Amino acid sequence: MIIIFSPQASEEQIQHVVERVEGLGLRVHLSRGTYRTIIGVIGDESLLQAAPLEAVPGVERVVPVLPPYKLASIEAHPEPSVVDVAGVKIGGGHLALIAGPCAVESYERMDRIGAAVRAAGANLLRGGAFKPRTSPYSFQGLGEEGLKILREVGRKYGLPVVTEVMDPRQVELVDRYTDMFQIGARNMQNFNLLTEVGQTRKAVLLKRGMSATVKDLLLSAEYILSEGNPSVVLCERGVRGFDPAVRNLFDVAAVPLCKSLSHLPIVVDPSHATGRPQLIPACALAGVAAGADGVHVEVHDCPEQALSDGDQALLPQQFAELASQIRRLAELLGKQISQPLGAPA
Ligand code: PEP
Ligand code: MN
Repeated sequence: MIIIFSPQASEEQIQHVVERVEGLGLRVHLSRGTYRTIIGVIGDESLLQAAPLEAVPGVERVVPVLPPYKLASIEAHPEPSVVDVAGVKIGGGHLALIAGPCAVESYERMDRIGAAVRAAGANLLRGGAFKPRTSPYSFQGLGEEGLKILREVGRKYGLPVVTEVMDPRQVELVDRYTDMFQIGARNMQNFNLLTEVGQTRKAVLLKRGMSATVKDLLLSAEYILSEGNPSVVLCERGVRGFDPAVRNLFDVAAVPLCKSLSHLPIVVDPSHATGRPQLIPACALAGVAAGADGVHVEVHDCPEQALSDGDQALLPQQFAELASQIRRLAELLGKQISQPLGAPA
């Protein structure tokens, strides 16, 4: 931590800060320039969280040296983390290919989509049973019935499953059926929910909030990690833009940015990022080329009948073409798509 004083800071104000810092058990390195004095704080800077030094008269700025997300930071763990989801590896050269409908709608439909995405090479099956809908009158998901269907179809096709959990009170129930929790964009800063999934030992797919910075995303990951759950996969799913031509603004730079700041794997979700099937393949490939550890895509066998997000779903055939392009790109990059342990039906 570096403390920068204003040019007008008095000697008493500087001494007051020195005493505050030393009183917390830290050492100071005082450097007096022609115009300004600065203090380098030596020791565990987290102790300074108890002292809002920018509020002290004479202090102009306090600059942390370490990021506030300790466990998520690259400094804490220079090697990329590999998250294991029931045998499927994500990160460290292993790509996730997560596919499935926005919502679980019925067993028959989930079965058809599960068969198709497995045949196309997906290694994780997605489907929402609890849907965070903007309108309370929209389809809210099948609840536990949806979880059962997802679990059953995942088993049938040998695919681990990922599904959204929206509320701390649902964690225990969802935990019984899923291999990976999804925290949706709208709940990225639901801190009680993050704490609750952090207390499980199940992998978490943490989606970036639509108005969240990368720092916010990493601090949300920190909530989960600090509860003792190390298995967090970040997801870039677009942020709010100004152009209604796309649903969100796909922030591809967030991928290498997260890689430079954190050891956690990150996947891209071009379905929610663009909201338009025509734009999904290019953005999926751009994400992987930018270093993403996988892709998360919504697939539906009859988008016009979908109960949610039908207008952004890829048809199974379109997903199969995209999956084959991702495989070729992965090969070029020296990465692999981790194969599920379960045998396909
Ligand atoms: C979803 O995955 O269906 C979803 C609701 O995503 P997001 O939270 O990114 O909007
Ligand atoms: Mn969706």
